[in-house]
Amino acid sequence: MLATMSSAYERLIEHQRRTATLASAAGVLGWDQQTYLPPAAAPHRGAQAAALAGMVHEWRVDPRLGEWLAACEETPAENPASQQAVNLRWIRRSYDKAMRLPGELVAEQAEAASSAYDAWKDARARADFTAFQPHLERSLALARREADHLGWETCRYDALLDIYEPGATAAMVSDLFTPLGQELRALLDEVDQSPSEENGVALPAAIPVQEALCREVLAAIGFDFDRGRLDTTTHPFCTGLGPHDVRITTRYHEDDCLDAISGALHEGGHALYEQGLVAEHWGTPMGQTVSLGIHESQSRLWENQVGRSLGFCHFLQALFGKQLPAAAEIDPERLYAHLNRVTPGFIRVESDEISYNLHIILRFELERAMVEGDLAVADLPGAWNDRFRELFGREVPDDARGCLQDVHWTAAFGYFPTYTLGNCYAAQFFTTACQELGDQEAAFARGDFASLCDWLRTAIHRQGSRYLPHELCAAVTGAELDRSHLLAHLRHRYLGQRV
Ligand code: ZN
Repeated sequence: MLATMSSAYERLIEHQRRTATLASAAGVLGWDQQTYLPPAAAPHRGAQAAALAGMVHEWRVDPRLGEWLAACEETPAENPASQQAVNLRWIRRSYDKAMRLPGELVAEQAEAASSAYDAWKDARARADFTAFQPHLERSLALARREADHLGWETCRYDALLDIYEPGATAAMVSDLFTPLGQELRALLDEVDQSPSEENGVALPAAIPVQEALCREVLAAIGFDFDRGRLDTTTHPFCTGLGPHDVRITTRYHEDDCLDAISGALHEGGHALYEQGLVAEHWGTPMGQTVSLGIHESQSRLWENQVGRSLGFCHFLQALFGKQLPAAAEIDPERLYAHLNRVTPGFIRVESDEISYNLHIILRFELERAMVEGDLAVADLPGAWNDRFRELFGREVPDDARGCLQDVHWTAAFGYFPTYTLGNCYAAQFFTTACQELGDQEAAFARGDFASLCDWLRTAIHRQGSRYLPHELCAAVTGAELDRSHLLAHLRHRYLGQRV
């Protein structure tokens, strides 16, 4: 029996690695499409991507997987956190999910997402919700069908949220977001009273200079350029293509180098997580990142907790001295005030650290209501504008600056909460890191980020998918996810309060 199980397990793992290898080849083509592909090559690239996606899907629903899993599951795991138990649990989870979804639904979702994306771009440019409405109705109906195939107990939204944040539920998110929204709303009122206009800083720089700055910052935080690349795109992203190949992109605006640096820190945080996974586990759940929320916690921690700290501003000023003489004299305190100014606006991706989470809470409430059938798509603009007025006290001028601004609902419902979950996890992880390592401001000012990077590698990156996100949080910080850490961070940052 033991021999059977071990050979079934070996075959299972070999199959996982082969599938991951094929999927990573598709990933390289996807990365190339967003960076260097000549425009006329797009249709053929689409055909290549579809052919590979079809093969990957076939391998993922290979009936032998079910047989190997059943053979392995005859002997229950003694230690649920052991490498084998973790791998079996996650492979079972993804196999069951893949088997539950009918092929025609998956194909229809891919086609619907592609036409919804084109319609959304056009509708947003013209601020015309009615042009997007039938596409949104279709993508929502497909997502509801997907949830019903995947299965749910308490509410349909849970099935969709679980795709992106395994183990999380709408009830758990709601318990966290409802009081957080009220507290952030109150904090915004307090912060708004302090003047911020005179803190504006403009740091124009030629693009090669900006790129050199981004590379120095990335190298300083621990990004390994022998195992990764930095390229340029309109929409920055990070993608892990293999055990020693993690690609990130950023964008440059000639009138402001700080935007590119902040983007590089965000994507660099994602990349450190991918580069910190254990290479020998590559292609198996033990060598995979665990959720979008935890992934986002790593990007936000470097972008916000580190990248907007006073220590980091001292480091930046020293860096400017080498690369950007015009900015060498800039006062780090002024840079700090500039990086932490509060500018509540209509657009999520342009918002500050406080209002960002209010934007997410709004989206969570509305997409949950749509998925549960409590809000008709036709009523979305009105519901959006009403809730925006309650949260921000302002009138949304048009749907391009309202419910049409984000691409997510062309294809994904249940994704938005992972951003604010990531912010909460980031604050809690950083609090624990500073308790264990001591205050990091002086180290940051010297450009020394190694202690923090090593701590994250051990506590989070090397764990792969050993724990569910909320279990990882408890294992690392000794406590459940708690919004008080994010609030304390924001009150310290924006009101100067030591908490
Ligand atoms: Zn991110």
